[in-house]
Amino acid sequence: MQQNYGINIWSDNNFIIENNTVNINHKNRPSLLEITQDARGQGYKGPLLLRFPHLIKKQIDTLYREFNRAREEFDYNGKFQAVFPLKVNQFPNFVNSLIEVSKEYNYGLEAGSKAELIIAITHTPLNAPITVNGFKDKEMISLCFIASNMGHNITITIEGIGELETIIEVNREFNRDNKIHITPKIGLRIRLHSSGIGIWEKSGGYSSKFGLTSTELLDAYDLLKKHALLDKLWMIHFHIGSQMGEIAPLKKALREVGNIYGDLKNRGATELNAINIGGGLAVEYAQHSNYKELNYSLKEFANDVVFLMKEISKNKNIKEPDIFTESGRFIAAHHLVLIAPILELFSQEYHEKSLRLKENNPPLITELYDLWRSLNKMNAREYLHDSLDHMESLLTLFDLGYIDLEDRSNTEILVNLIIKKSILLLNKNDNNELQRLQDRIQERYLVNFSAFQSLPDFWGLHQHFPVMPIDKLDSTPTNPATIWDITCDSDGEIPFNREKPLYLHDINVDEEEYFLAFFLTGAYQEVLGMKHNLFTHPTEIVVNFDKNGEYILENFVESKNIMDVLDEMDYDKSFIDKKLKSQIKESTTMSQTQKQKLLGKLYLYLSENSYLKTIQTHKN
Ligand SMILES: *Cc1c(COP(=O)(O)O)cnc(C)c1O
Repeated sequence: MQQNYGINIWSDNNFIIENNTVNINHKNRPSLLEITQDARGQGYKGPLLLRFPHLIKKQIDTLYREFNRAREEFDYNGKFQAVFPLKVNQFPNFVNSLIEVSKEYNYGLEAGSKAELIIAITHTPLNAPITVNGFKDKEMISLCFIASNMGHNITITIEGIGELETIIEVNREFNRDNKIHITPKIGLRIRLHSSGIGIWEKSGGYSSKFGLTSTELLDAYDLLKKHALLDKLWMIHFHIGSQMGEIAPLKKALREVGNIYGDLKNRGATELNAINIGGGLAVEYAQHSNYKELNYSLKEFANDVVFLMKEISKNKNIKEPDIFTESGRFIAAHHLVLIAPILELFSQEYHEKSLRLKENNPPLITELYDLWRSLNKMNAREYLHDSLDHMESLLTLFDLGYIDLEDRSNTEILVNLIIKKSILLLNKNDNNELQRLQDRIQERYLVNFSAFQSLPDFWGLHQHFPVMPIDKLDSTPTNPATIWDITCDSDGEIPFNREKPLYLHDINVDEEEYFLAFFLTGAYQEVLGMKHNLFTHPTEIVVNFDKNGEYILENFVESKNIMDVLDEMDYDKSFIDKKLKSQIKESTTMSQTQKQKLLGKLYLYLSENSYLKTIQTHKN
């Protein structure tokens, strides 16, 4: 049985297993292994982030295609438009790729802070929509006015009455200073009565940080009218929360917001013409079919949105609004793969070569050895039981002083080998006993990455990310695996979980390289990543394809070197520099040439990134 790590569940055909490697299912289908080796050959060691712009494009294409299909199917007259919420990924190599691959759609950006707003203003074409959410002060609102006067298509989403008052104030100032100016468009964020579900539910719902209650909506309407700004009100917005696993809360929210939209429009908000359904469209991170994270498809999602808006518009006798989405996770998650090298396997040396068999072994040890050699599919269960029984006897013999430490070590190794072989031969999934035994023989893999930096949602929210080795996929992995990162923090561990087991191959890191890939890490992880232990954003590489279908590696951004990491923490670089030099210079044990040599070495290390290059194993 070939272990496929649930690739058919989470990869959406973006990655496939071909021969014995994970390959990119695009153009010439290169393997992740050859790309990794290529980059390492160019000197980029440590963990690597591979960015795939074609996967950003695929998600955008899919989103527009499904919504436009639904519009046709339901004969819907409003348009479909999308913006990308920058908080999901603001890294320039991502944003530039996003803008590049989405040209045909007039795809826009959503900003939630001043810095994000500046990214949006400088990276979107003039016509593309910019929406501005989140808490805003007078400066931020003024920035929106500046953008609209540059010619940007910008909408300020009002999260509270106070913001509307500031807009009125800024508008008055602009009116006074410039006779002709363009006021930005205005959106109103609805505080939903219905709420989302799952670990991110807090962003929707009545106790949410954001949005206007019904009473506030009416107040806002009156204020807009009073200050002759009603013609700027053109969008209603809501956001139900991220990674929405079920479709039901969205439908509930749509009915609620759709009716609010209709009432405001009929009340006199004649320019109101768009409904923004926020984000929340989920991504399937599961590797095990029993643990799927979402219960709907994009098709169903799009159908529900379009159908419900059509129905509400008919009931309220209004024009069908344009539909906006702000899906972030759905667009960004797929495009980024973290490749992390295995540095070490940590379990005791339960290998055949560690056996210390004697001329004359205690009979039970000889028996164990024979059980191991002759184990096959037919006898595995029986022999496994025999071996566990023998082990108990042998341990008792040891306690009583009848056998020695070498015999005891041989016992442990042989029983371990028998359990591993049984797991290989029997179907571990329908065997409780084997499942329990797995904890005992699990192997700890030390992996060159920081979970805090690269999978912060695993650390903070226990979000699962698909992980698998990128080669050796023609052989069955037998080690139940726990993953250890290189931080000095015991939370930097992905423990073996019997419910969602991960098996990895038994390898000898002194002789061969072995890499793990973590998938679907393109949404939120990069910017939420923490510098715990001062491990920084890994080296990133953009993987594009030329017209012959060959991959090209571009835009390398190497992980920060040690001195730059310290500089970023506001350490005084020149102090550190002087101190290191003087400490070497003043050493009394070294000769002049020795000092020079060490100084050279030291500066070489300081110019490299802080991830581990290699690890000294016990054999060297
Ligand atoms: C975070 C956020 C989004 C993006 O949500 P996803 O679940 O990543 O699609 C969209 N809109 C608003 C207002 C947000 O705060």
